[in-house]
Amino acid sequence: MTDLTGKTCLITAAAQGIGAASALAFVKAGAKVIATDINADKLSELDGIAGIETRVLDVLNENAIAALAAETGGVDILFNCAGVVHGGSVLEMKEGDLDFAFDLNVKAMVRMIRAFLPGMIERGDGSIINMSSVASSIKGVPNRFAYSTTKAAVIGMTKAIAADYVTKGIRCNAIAPGTVDSPSLQERLKATGDYEKARTDFIARQPIGRIGTPEEIAELAVYLAGATYTTGQAHIIDGAWAC
Ligand code: NAD
Repeated sequence: MTDLTGKTCLITAAAQGIGAASALAFVKAGAKVIATDINADKLSELDGIAGIETRVLDVLNENAIAALAAETGGVDILFNCAGVVHGGSVLEMKEGDLDFAFDLNVKAMVRMIRAFLPGMIERGDGSIINMSSVASSIKGVPNRFAYSTTKAAVIGMTKAIAADYVTKGIRCNAIAPGTVDSPSLQERLKATGDYEKARTDFIARQPIGRIGTPEEIAELAVYLAGATYTTGQAHIIDGAWAC
C-alpha cells in the first residue's frame, strides 16, 4: 500500500465525487490533505476529518490560487480534479461552451501548476496528477465535443510538463476514467429525461458491466502520487470501455 506519510496533497474540486473520495483516500494513505472547492457548503462536509483542511477555491481565479499557494507554502502532491462536462457535437454545442471548458478543464490546471510547481522544483520532489477522461485523445465519444477536446489537451499538457521537469524530481501523470458514479453524473442521467434508460445505456458502455466508483479512481490517484517510476502517462481506468 502507498505510504504518503509526511506528504501534503492539495486537491481541487474536493467537495464531491472523485475529488471528495480522493481527499479521504489520501488521508488514509497518511498524507495531509488540503481539500479545495468552489462550493463552500458541500466542502464543509469534510471539516473535522483528521488530516483534512478545507479551503474555498475557485480555480478560475488566478489571484485566489496565488494567495493559497502563498498560504500553504507549497505542497508535495497536486491533484487537479476540477472539470466540467458539456454535451453536444461540434455543431450542437452552445456558444461559449468551448471557451468555458478550456478555462475550467485546461487553463485552471495550468494556473494551479504555475502556482505550485516552483515550490516542488525547489524541493526537488513533486507529483502532479491531472484529471483527464477516456473521452479525449483516447476514445471518440458521441455528444462530448468540448469535453473531449479539452480532456485531450490535459493529456498533452501532462506529457509536456513531464518531459520538461522529469530531471527536477517532478512527475506529472493524467488519470483517464470511463464512467464514474458522481453527483454530476447523476445530474447528467436525470437531464436526459429518462433516468433508467440513460443509466442502462451508460452501464452498457463498459464491458465490465458497471459504472466505476469515485473510490476506485481515488485509489489510482493515491497510487500515482507514490509511483516513482511513472510520468507523462494517461492512466486509463474505465472498465474496458476503451479497450
Ligand atoms: P462532480 O462533477 O460531481 O463535481 C465537480 C466538483 O467541481 C464540484 O464539487 C464543484 O463544486 C467543483 N467545481 C466546479 N467548478 C469549480 C471551480 N471553478 N473551482 C473549483 N471547483 C469547482 O465530480 P466528478 O464527476 O467526480 O468529476 C471530477 C473530475 O473527474 C472532473 O474533472 C471530470 O471531468 C472528471 N471525470 C469524471 C467522470 C465521471 O464519469 N464522473 C469521468 C471521467 C472524468
